[in-house]
Amino acid sequence: MQIALTCPQCGGQVELSEDASVFHCAFCDSTLKPTGRNQVQSFYFPPKGKKQAVQKALLRTLKDKRGISATVVESHLVYAPYWRVKGMLFQWAFGRKYESSTYDGPSFDYFKKLRAVAYHRTFPAFNSETFQLISIGLRAQAMRMWPFNREKMGSDALVLEQEVSLKEAVKKSLQTSSPLLDGGKLSLHINKTALIGEQYSLLYFPFFYFLLDTGTSRHQLIVDGLSHRVVKGTLPVGALTRNSNEKGLPYTPLNFIPFKCPNCGWDLPFQPSARIHLCTTCGKAWQEFGGRFHQVHYKVWEPDARVPGKNNIIYLPLWRLEVSITTPKGQCLTQKDFFALFPRPRVLDQVELETKPIHFYIPAFRIKNPVAVDKFAARLTLQQPFIPGASSTLRGQQAAPAWLPLGEAMEMAQLLLFSMTPKRAKPTQEAVKNAKIQLRHKELLFLPFFQKGIFLREVHTDLAIQKNCLEL
Ligand SMILES: [Zn+2]
Ligand SMILES: [Zn+2]
Repeated sequence: MQIALTCPQCGGQVELSEDASVFHCAFCDSTLKPTGRNQVQSFYFPPKGKKQAVQKALLRTLKDKRGISATVVESHLVYAPYWRVKGMLFQWAFGRKYESSTYDGPSFDYFKKLRAVAYHRTFPAFNSETFQLISIGLRAQAMRMWPFNREKMGSDALVLEQEVSLKEAVKKSLQTSSPLLDGGKLSLHINKTALIGEQYSLLYFPFFYFLLDTGTSRHQLIVDGLSHRVVKGTLPVGALTRNSNEKGLPYTPLNFIPFKCPNCGWDLPFQPSARIHLCTTCGKAWQEFGGRFHQVHYKVWEPDARVPGKNNIIYLPLWRLEVSITTPKGQCLTQKDFFALFPRPRVLDQVELETKPIHFYIPAFRIKNPVAVDKFAARLTLQQPFIPGASSTLRGQQAAPAWLPLGEAMEMAQLLLFSMTPKRAKPTQEAVKNAKIQLRHKELLFLPFFQKGIFLREVHTDLAIQKNCLEL
């Protein structure tokens, strides 16, 4: 979805892609950082046509098609708030799949499957019990939305109260019962769904409200402000009073700050898919929150000085999360506990493992193929690589932008438990089914990868990932 904007520099009519974390104006060439995009923001859709014209057409239709002569007692342009949720829906399923053959009777095989699909949903944020437009559906995908602006929406327009809180909206969006798995005879041991990277916005949708008098009775008629179709049902009239107190902007306003490094003052690199911006001049990393940049500390796992072809290296960001895992059987604190839960074929020095904490590795770069990237993250985490403490900054090196915020990385870490669990390992499945992860320490880590053909190969571990699985 596109956000329609007035460029704060030149006043030109421009657009900002919903996912873009940097704004560039094609007219005046300025580059700015839109703020508050990681929080709930409010938008509106301007209506098509004028109320008077819609009213005229409505009265004519009533007369011509139904023989009703009516007069309009009251009419308003009304904006009704809808929640919009956007994210990626992950589903892990473990179980048995049955096949029946005519001769041998039924047989089964164990399976383990990860599905990841884009998730979009809209639902009313107002009291909609008597109203039938319960979703603005796919239309919201194709339309341009404007940042909430009471003045531009029309000073005589009415705005319906938002009655469904963000907390209720989160709860509602998590009630996703849609069956993602194929049919067939399955018995599921684990069926875990999570919505990751979700973004909530409030969309104010326009309606025309008419109170009609037919001589014998009065009726409320609501017309969709974009399609001009009559919507069945009524809007909560009680809330249809003019909002006397100008409440200002609901939620975080969309503003702009200079897209410059707060440390050295140079322009930050233009990467619309970066949420953490790495200054190529001084090497410091920044994330916007609350309308200003905050520094993000990171570490680089430098390749050995003797590694040949060092100029063919690209650094990819991952979250390195030191965690403990609580399972019904107890708490896993060290690598000894970790490898008891996820056994490795090679026997390791148990005494040494007892001194080492557990780290989860969650890709922070923008992903195109979640299933493939998940495999990579699971293999890296199962290795529990030793990473030396010393670190340098990335300056002038090629590095992929960091996109996934920490909160979502923790949700991914929860899913990684399933990624690391083999499909036949019943005890591990039982343990991870109800396991909880606690964060003890976090850092953003850049790992060096060799670019070779269609692959990116991590220099220390030799783990590979296909280039087309990520957005570079
Ligand atoms: Zn401009
Ligand atoms: Zn800088």
